[in-house]
Amino acid sequence: GSTIGILGSGQLGRMLAIAAAQLGYRTHIYAPETGPANDVSPLMTRARYDDAGALSAFARSVDVVTYEFENVAFAPIAALSPIAPVHPPAMSLATAQDRVNEKSFVEGLGGRPAPWREVKSLAELEAAIDAIGCPAILKTSRFGYDGRGQARITAPDQAQAAWDAIGAAPAVLEGFVQFEHEFSIVLARGLDGTIVSYAPPLNVHKDGILATSTIPAPPQVAAQWTEAATLAGRVAAALDHVGILTLEFFVGADGPVFNEMAPRVHNSGHWTIEGAVTSQFENHIRAICGLPLGSTDVVGHGAEMENLIGDDWQRWPDVLAEHDAHLHLYGKHEARPGRKMGHVTRVKR
Ligand code: ATP
Ligand code: MG
Ligand code: MG
Repeated sequence: GSTIGILGSGQLGRMLAIAAAQLGYRTHIYAPETGPANDVSPLMTRARYDDAGALSAFARSVDVVTYEFENVAFAPIAALSPIAPVHPPAMSLATAQDRVNEKSFVEGLGGRPAPWREVKSLAELEAAIDAIGCPAILKTSRFGYDGRGQARITAPDQAQAAWDAIGAAPAVLEGFVQFEHEFSIVLARGLDGTIVSYAPPLNVHKDGILATSTIPAPPQVAAQWTEAATLAGRVAAALDHVGILTLEFFVGADGPVFNEMAPRVHNSGHWTIEGAVTSQFENHIRAICGLPLGSTDVVGHGAEMENLIGDDWQRWPDVLAEHDAHLHLYGKHEARPGRKMGHVTRVKR
C-alpha cells in the first residue's frame, strides 16, 4: 500500500484521511504542535511548516504530498517536489494563497471579481477608497480565513481604523457586492487532466463563516452555473491543478462575480460525503493518486449541510434523533466561539 502525506491536522485533513483509509491508503499527517490532533492517521509528524529538515524527512516517508489548507509558506512546500510529487502543484498554492495573485490570475482567464485594488499603505488605502467608493471591504492579501483579517469600510474616514484593524498588512480593497445569493464550484481535476465538477450549492455565511450549503441551489444560482463552472475549469487547467479546486462566487446582475478560490477540499463541499455519488474527499484522493475520478452526481433530491460552530455541537443528541441526518464531529477538544466543531448533512431522499 502507498502512503499519502497530508500537511495540516484540521478537519479537512482528517476527512481526507478517512477517505484515503477507505481506499486502502495510509496517511501521514504533518502539522505543528499547535495544530489539532488527528487520531485517524496512523503516522504523525509534529514540526513547523518552515522546518526544512522535518519536511524533507516527511516527504521521503510518503508517496505523494497534499495539503488541507493554503496558508502555509510557499517555498518550503515547493522544495518538496523533487522528493515526492506535491498535488495540487506549487503554482496552485502560490496563486490561491494571495488575493492579489488569485484575482489577477482569474481576471486573466476572463473571470470578473468585484472592483479591487492592491493596498500596501494607508495612503494607498485612501486612494483605493476614492477609486472604488464605499461600502468596501479591506482584506489582508494572505492568511485570512473564516472572515478573519477583514474590515468593512462604510465611509472614507474609516480608512485609518480599518488599516489598523487588519494590522497594516499587505491587503486588497474590494467593492462591496450587494448580492442575494452566494455559491461555489467544487471540481476535481485528475492527473490526466480530466475534470469533473459538483452541482453548485447555495452558501449562506454568518459573521463571515459558512453556516449552510444547500443542494439544489435556487434558480438564480443555477442560471450562472455553466459560466462559473467553465471559468473554474479554465482556472484548473491553467494551473495544471491536480485534486479538488474550489471557486467562490456571488450571483451578480450580469453573471457570476468571483470572490476567491481554494486549492483544496472545501467546507461548501462537505455535503458530497452523503449527498453525492463520490465525495470531494474521495475524488481528491483519487486525483492525487492518479486514479480515475468518480461520479459527482447528486444522490436523491439534494442535501443540506449545516456547520456546527462553537457550542452548536452540543445539539448532537437531537441530530442523532433525526431521520436522514448525518452527524460529523471533528474530535476537537475545545469549543471556541467561531470554531468549526463539526457539521450535519441532511439528505433529501
Ligand atoms: P474562507 O473561510 O471562505 O476562506 P475568507 O476569510 O477568505 O473566508 P471571504 O471568502 O473573502 O473570506 O469572505 C467571507 C464572506 O464575506 C464571503 O463568503 C461573503 O459572504 C462576504 N464577502 C466577502 N467579500 C465580499 C464582498 N466584496 N462583497 C460582499 N460580501 C463579501
Ligand atoms: Mg478564503
Ligand atoms: Mg471564502
